[in-house]
Amino acid sequence: MSIELKPCPFCGKSGKELRINRIMFSGSIFDKHLFFIECPSCHWCGETKLFAWRAKRAWNRRADK
Ligand SMILES: [Zn+2]
Repeated sequence: MSIELKPCPFCGKSGKELRINRIMFSGSIFDKHLFFIECPSCHWCGETKLFAWRAKRAWNRRADK
């Protein structure tokens, strides 16, 4: 599923230049991944989510306001 990111709500950085960060940490049974969008310009971060598309959706929801 591909979701286009909206520009940063704070500095207006284009959605194409935003970073999708993945954090990995080891669990007792399996490794977990978490995703969040970060603006490389003002370093504002979106919500941390279990899936990249959810992180993108959360970012776009924020960018709408
Ligand atoms: Zn920004």
